Amino acid sequence: MGEIWIKEAEKLGDGSIGGAMDSPSAPGRAVWHTTESGHGDASFKNVGQYLISIGAEPHILYDPTTDRLGQYGPLNQSARALRNDGITRTNRTGKVCVQIEVLARAGKPFTGYWKPGPNFRALMRAIRSWGVPDVFPAGALASKYADSAAKRNRTTWATKGGHYGHCNIPGNDHWDPGNISKTTLFAAAPKGSTTPAPSKPTTPTVKTVDLSNVIAAARRDPGLKQGGTTHPADVRIVEAALKAEGLLSASYAADGAYGSTTITAYKAWQRKCGYSGSAADGIPGKSSLEKLGAKRGFKVKA
Ligand SMILES: [Zn+2]
Repeated sequence: MGEIWIKEAEKLGDGSIGGAMDSPSAPGRAVWHTTESGHGDASFKNVGQYLISIGAEPHILYDPTTDRLGQYGPLNQSARALRNDGITRTNRTGKVCVQIEVLARAGKPFTGYWKPGPNFRALMRAIRSWGVPDVFPAGALASKYADSAAKRNRTTWATKGGHYGHCNIPGNDHWDPGNISKTTLFAAAPKGSTTPAPSKPTTPTVKTVDLSNVIAAARRDPGLKQGGTTHPADVRIVEAALKAEGLLSASYAADGAYGSTTITAYKAWQRKCGYSGSAADGIPGKSSLEKLGAKRGFKVKA
């Protein structure tokens, strides 16, 4: 599962634009558009609203001069910036079909003057998170309206993952995003730079159970009022381990009370360890508790 909402993007509209994909087993793709407008915050707002008003929202609105990034809807659902190809709903082709409207004009390829920044890298990170390769499977983009018809291929669109221009989509007649530089596009988000920083590996703290505490609890708790505890912190660890062993039912709340249910469960553990008779009395001994700890990740302080 890839990224659905790009955390760096501002939300646009009500967050709902399309629906489920029609061919989720086909590879993911991204489609580049230009808004045929100016850039800057006023355009971002006005064009952003306009796309909602005509029901033609992409997933992403991007200002190539300010690196401003907006998102209309979840990446794993369809957007609405493409026309259907007959009965083929091009907006819903592929595992994802991430559509990006760049505030620019096809006649002036934005990669010639843009200033991509961290938000562009975030966008590319999200696109790549769906396994969309850094390739343009349809080949050349259109450099003018007149040559766009030659750039569309149904089979390629149906079967190949990667990046497309609106000019490459069957059933459509636009030539955006113009002849942008593919090399520049991908180079602006070098692969390593878009990998989210891995979360710090946390050193697991090994819990310690005090044997004498557990024994004291096992002797005292069953005589207390229901749920009464003596050494709840130690007992909770033992109960969690017994649960993990399937000896305490999953629905049992590890409450830290070493009551009759826990006694019964521990007896079962002792029998599993080979004890029987009075040696399997439900009161932990050093060796059985150490065995449980070795298996379920706690240490025993004896
Ligand atoms: Zn377009």
